[in-house]
Order: sequence, then structure tokens, then C-alpha cells
Amino acid sequence: MSSTRVLVLNSGSSSVKYQLLDMRDSSRLAVGLVERIGEETSRLKHTPLASGGESRERTGPIADHEAALKAVAEELANDGLGLDSPELAAIGHRVVHGGKLFTAPTVIDSAVLAEIERLIPVAPLHNPANLTGIRTAQALRPDLPQVAVFDTAFHTTMPESAARYAIDVKTADEHRIRRYGFHGTSHAYVSRATAKLLGKAPEDVNVIVLHLGNGASASAVRGGKCVDTSMGLTPLEGLVMGTRSGDMDPAVIFHLMRVGKMSTDEIDTLLNKKSGLIGLCGDNDMREIRRRIDEGDEEAQLAFDIYIHRLKKYIGAYYAVLGRVDAVAFTAGVGENAGPVREAAVAGLEELGLAVDGALNAVRGEEPRLISPAHARVAVAVVPTDEELEIATQTYALVGQ
Ligand code: AMP
Repeated sequence: MSSTRVLVLNSGSSSVKYQLLDMRDSSRLAVGLVERIGEETSRLKHTPLASGGESRERTGPIADHEAALKAVAEELANDGLGLDSPELAAIGHRVVHGGKLFTAPTVIDSAVLAEIERLIPVAPLHNPANLTGIRTAQALRPDLPQVAVFDTAFHTTMPESAARYAIDVKTADEHRIRRYGFHGTSHAYVSRATAKLLGKAPEDVNVIVLHLGNGASASAVRGGKCVDTSMGLTPLEGLVMGTRSGDMDPAVIFHLMRVGKMSTDEIDTLLNKKSGLIGLCGDNDMREIRRRIDEGDEEAQLAFDIYIHRLKKYIGAYYAVLGRVDAVAFTAGVGENAGPVREAAVAGLEELGLAVDGALNAVRGEEPRLISPAHARVAVAVVPTDEELEIATQTYALVGQ
């Protein structure tokens, strides 16, 4: 029997998202999520797509990642899709930080694990959870290839001029401070899907990708390779996000320490969890913000305007970085669903060849689609991202037969 299935695991600090795919046709056999791991109110939601079955839910305490993965394995086994199946070719793990070293998906061995661990100081929230997911999966299926697909890998093609911060070189090198960028799996997938939508090869197009989810990042992709991206050493830099500030004067931090008497951890929490849209108006969900704007809420309007202003600045900046732009692609929760964000982001950029057709922008759908007027100089597109499929594809390309 040939092994054509790939299990994709995305392990967060208190959650595990998973998908089982059959790579013969990239179909999803099962998808699910375990959340609130370590709490009394843990929840596992499992949907067996292959059998067309109903979603199943388990609630009650799931102590740790090991218990979570065991519960997932049981659910899969109930559908005849158990992890012991010879049809399972590999497990692909999303790993947030791969530093400078990992430029491509990598089969995990002890040296790879050690390097992911060494990167914990630059990804303290994410890499430990990713490591736990890998180790637990290895314990369940020690014989199976496990592949790390890094969020940073797509951005390792950035030139030094884009990747380096203008700070003392010795200090930067000692502490490995540089722009790494994140959401790379999404930027890679969407930039390629955009080229396909235009009927061209990735090598022949320049794309600005706007990944606008709860976390948000922009990238400039020239001929299929990333040349700049908005997130930096950590996912805090760049665009206004759901709960993160994005760009600001770094001196705000000294000011908060010296004058506001805030601790490092308090400032970290402020900028990562209590800023961005939620800090500006108390909501981080764009649907809610739009609803409030429709009711005349000025606070929500200002939060929206700040969000759009930053987005527009990045479009302009990456236009300049690329010189020639073939397409601007919107993706992720906000990018795929919020027509008003797309319209406002390119409003007034007609001189750059950018515009949105109102009727096309109002169309909803799952497929990649153009929303720019016919004959526009630059295509504006909505391109749904699919990070799990991309992780599965990269994993299978490495280990499948
Ligand atoms: P993601 O991180 O890609 O899952 O995106 C999540 C975010 O997408 C949510 O916080 C919302 O702000 C946004 N979102 C999801 N659906 C919609 C929608 N229909 N309209 C506007 N924003 C949406």
C-alpha cells in the first residue's frame, strides 16, 4: 500500500490544530482543533471530512500536548484514519522560527530539534510549543518521518539591505537581531497562487502579498522570491494587527519604562496583546469594527483609519521596493472577507495603477479572484491562503514516494 497521507500539526502554547490530507488529490480527510490544553475546560473538535460525518466534540480537561495528541489519534482511529496506518507518509509541523539556518522544509532529527530549541530566545512564545508538538508526535510514531516547515523560511531570500536593522553590527550579530519575517508559508502559497491566477509563472511576476488576519504582515515578492516583509525579529513589527501595535518609535518603550514605570513584561503584554485594533477601540474583530462604524462609532472609525493608513504605507513602500508590481493579493481572515478594507487600502492609488471594482469586490467566494477593473495596470486579487495544504505539500515533496 502506498503512503499518501500527511498529518499537519500546528501546535500553539495551549492549542493544537490538525489536518489529515491525502496528497493524491490534496483532499482533506479530517480536520480538527484542541484548545485550552491544560485547563479544566479543554475542548477537542474533530470533523471527519472523508466520511462526510458530523463534527464530534469532547470537552473536559486535557492536561498537556501529549494527552491532546493521543485524543486526536483516537478520534482519527475512530474514523479508520489512525496514526498507525501504513498510508500515513509523514507528519508536517508548522514551526514558527527557523532563524537564518532553515531556508527550506527539513526532516527533523536531533540536530534540527536542538537548533529549534536554540532559537527559543527569539521566539519564546512559539518555538517551545512547536517543540512539544514534535516530541509528542515522535513518541507516538517514532518510525515516521517528521518534517518542520518554518514560518521564516520563505523570507530567507531577503537581501541584507532589507533584513538588517541599522543598529550596531556587533550587537545585532551577538543577539541574532535581524528581520526574519513570519507567515512565510502563507506568503509563499499566496504569491504562487496569484501568479497562477494571472496565468503566469511565479518567476515572471512581482507581487505584494497582504496577509491580514488577527496577525498581519505584508511582503514584497519578486519573481517568486521574498525581497522584503513587514514582520521583523518577532511578529510585532509592521502592520496594525488585531492586538499588536506594529511599527512605532522604539523610544516609546524607554518612555514607558522611565516615565510610566512599566516592567519589560508589562510592556511586552501591552504591545503584543493590548494594542493594535483592540487597544485602539476595544475590538479586534474586523466584523465588529465595521458594524460599529455603520452605527456611527467614531472610535471604531479611527481604529479603522489607522489600520488602513499603515496598510497603504506598506503598499507604497513595497511598490517602491519592487519597482514594477504585477499584482496586490489580499489574504487571511480580513483580507479574504473584508471588502471595505480592500477598497480603502487602494483608494487614491489610481496613479500607481491600483484600483478596485466595486461589484467584483463585493463578490464572496472560496476561489482566488480578481477584484481590479478590466485592463487595470496592476491586478488586485483576493487569494485565500491555505497554510495547511502548503505544509502538507512541502512535507510530501520531501518524504513522499
Ligand atoms: P485569521 O487570523 O486569518 O483567522 O483572521 C481572523 C480575523 O479575520 C478575525 O479576527 C476578523 O477580524 C477577520 N474576519 C473573519 N471573517 C471576517 C468577515 N466576514 N469580515 C471581516 N473580517 C473578518
